[in-house]
Amino acid sequence: VIKEESRNDYQIFKQSLKEGFKERFKLETELHKALKDGDFELHFQPQYDLKSQEIIGFEALCRWPHKEMGAISPDQFIPIAEKTGLILDIGDWVIYEACRLNKKWQGEGLPKVKVSVNLSARQFLQRHLVSRVSEILEETGLEPQYLELEITESMAMSNERYIIDTLNDFNDLGVKVALDDFGTGYSSLKYLSQFPLSKIKIDRMFIQNQTKQNMAIVKTIIHLSHALNLKVIAEGVEKETDLDFLLSEKCDQVQGFYFSKPMPESQIKTFLNE
Ligand code: C2E
Ligand code: MG
Ligand code: MG
Ligand code: MG
Repeated sequence: VIKEESRNDYQIFKQSLKEGFKERFKLETELHKALKDGDFELHFQPQYDLKSQEIIGFEALCRWPHKEMGAISPDQFIPIAEKTGLILDIGDWVIYEACRLNKKWQGEGLPKVKVSVNLSARQFLQRHLVSRVSEILEETGLEPQYLELEITESMAMSNERYIIDTLNDFNDLGVKVALDDFGTGYSSLKYLSQFPLSKIKIDRMFIQNQTKQNMAIVKTIIHLSHALNLKVIAEGVEKETDLDFLLSEKCDQVQGFYFSKPMPESQIKTFLNE
């Protein structure tokens, strides 16, 4: 009986492994096609200065509305794009499109804001990234202070020298870099002291569960950031109580569903005019 059962488990395991492969392969093929057909879109989520309550920018978030499968979340397709290397082309499109649209809004006389673009580890580590970003800024006509990049700690384990050099090159170019999802990765304090960053984004898991422990962590990250001359933004602000807490702790910036969900480009004009 036992034997029979473990045989079944094995069959089930093999089957789900096979389906996993199929699923991934399918998504990979579809990703290629989406890139070629121009199926990706950017949505934009506003970021606010807490003190002045003014909008300071938008985070650009990649969307993939698939004709048959429906909307596929970036948490699903970005890791696959990373593994296959497709992230380099998708990421290049994201930077270009974000800069192009921001320049377009400026041309329409809307208030000038920053656009924040997420970079994957692989993308950040590719050679010539800085010169490519500089080229995109030139081609789109966007001034460097209106672009911001977000990186995560996941890449920071190796190539420390390379990362520091690249961050310095971005500083020279006038493009600021933020550390995203802070607190969930390796979170080495060494990186905070060594990497020439301009902003820390506190991961939303610390904001959304206001336990005593998380509140202590958020407080500490804010104080630490300020002591290191870094700006700090909280992501995932959903409730008024989240906001009250962040205000009392003098967090600099906020972003989250409480203010607005990420929205399509077609809504930006109305949004910025209000
Ligand atoms: P992220 O960079 O940390 O982006 C924030 C995510 O939190 C977004 O999810 C956003 O929609 C979501 N969010 C914002 N406010 C709230 C809130 O109040 N409550 C909740 N529950 N969620 C909130 P999204 O758009 O699904 O993106 C997920 C992740 O996928 C991003 O996390 C980022 O790591 C990655 N990603 C998205 N677009 C790109 C891209 O163009 N390039 C790369 N490399 N990664 C991307
Ligand atoms: Mg981000
Ligand atoms: Mg984040
Ligand atoms: Mg995240």
